[in-house]
Amino acid sequence: MTTVAAISAVPRPLLDLTFAELERELGASGLPPVHARALWRAAHQELNQNLAKENGFVPPLRRWLEQNLGDGKRFFLDAPTETDDIASADGLTRKFLLRLADDQTIETVLMSFKGRHTACLSTQAGCAMGCVFCATGQMGFVRHLRPGEIVAQVRHAQRALRSAGHDGLRNLVLMGMGEPLHNYEAVMTALEIISDRGGLNIGPSKITISTVGVVPGILRLAEEQRPYHLAVSLHGATEAERSALVPASARWPLAELIAACRTYFAQTGRRIFFEWTLIAGANDSPAQAGRLGKLLAGLDAHVNLIPLNPTGGFAGTPTSLDAAKAFQSILKSAGIPSTIRQRRGIDVAAGCGQLRAEKSRTDRAGK
Ligand code: SAH
Ligand code: SF4
Repeated sequence: MTTVAAISAVPRPLLDLTFAELERELGASGLPPVHARALWRAAHQELNQNLAKENGFVPPLRRWLEQNLGDGKRFFLDAPTETDDIASADGLTRKFLLRLADDQTIETVLMSFKGRHTACLSTQAGCAMGCVFCATGQMGFVRHLRPGEIVAQVRHAQRALRSAGHDGLRNLVLMGMGEPLHNYEAVMTALEIISDRGGLNIGPSKITISTVGVVPGILRLAEEQRPYHLAVSLHGATEAERSALVPASARWPLAELIAACRTYFAQTGRRIFFEWTLIAGANDSPAQAGRLGKLLAGLDAHVNLIPLNPTGGFAGTPTSLDAAKAFQSILKSAGIPSTIRQRRGIDVAAGCGQLRAEKSRTDRAGK
């Protein structure tokens, strides 16, 4: 009995609930679906922070919220504290450092291009995959984020855009801290919530999941016909070269990864994006471009070439623009389209995990 009471006393995050779950919750208290819709709209469209004090609700819903939402009650609302908000010199990148209820910090980045806004979301605090050039990989794994903690990042970015008088978010990329397919269930639930038309309404075709190459996750996305775009981080076109940068390649070898991508393409018919962080002298030679071209032959692929953002724990340097262009033209002659991504917002430590890493360094230095 004691155990049951203790478990039922643990407050639940309201933003973890999908619409169907919210409808069931309210239904169990005798409230009709129309009230669930009103609450959903207030939480996910109007982005209200203080739902329990919201005056626009009908009395039964107001009563339910008074009884169920808030300190010591059944539900709470994820509202991470913004501990940093810094903008790049060109004003096009804004980076938020958000503190979660257990004091973990995560990064959410807002990127603007021609009046269109994209948010880059974190899916874990830290990351277990250990890619050598990545600031998040260098800090190791801390924990998975819950759906509500992923949704709260979108709410935060959307509110920041609104208060600056901008249009809302158009696109989302899961390219912040963490490996989305290592936190599959929570990420899928979050994306279901975020893409709901009566809520945040960012459609699946505007959402890209980026993975280090978690093979079972890629196959599951295909099997479940998840409607999101897929980006796969490659960085090497031979097993030896890839493993040197991406230790997770030992677990899901390159050959298996490419086979999974081919299966994904066969089952979904969707183009796959491949990310390639260009590191001078490591993976940016013409021969390596040629091998990448061969590896991707027959796939509907688009390669994003990203010059390295230098990080504290890795000695590599970014490839020059000329070398990046040479790499690109070899891919082109192999029939593979690519884009060289500008290193935007380098002055706000735009690489994934870099702001948190920088903060903890300065905090340790007593600043
Ligand atoms: N874990 C996922 C998504 C987050 S990382 C993944 O690895 O795909 C998002 C992208 O940023 C990946 O392609 C990753 O390789 C790249 N990246 C990480 N650190 C970087 C750095 N210091 N410079 C350039 N790209 C980096
Ligand atoms: Fe994790 Fe992605 Fe960073 Fe690799 S690049 S350590 S998978 S966040």
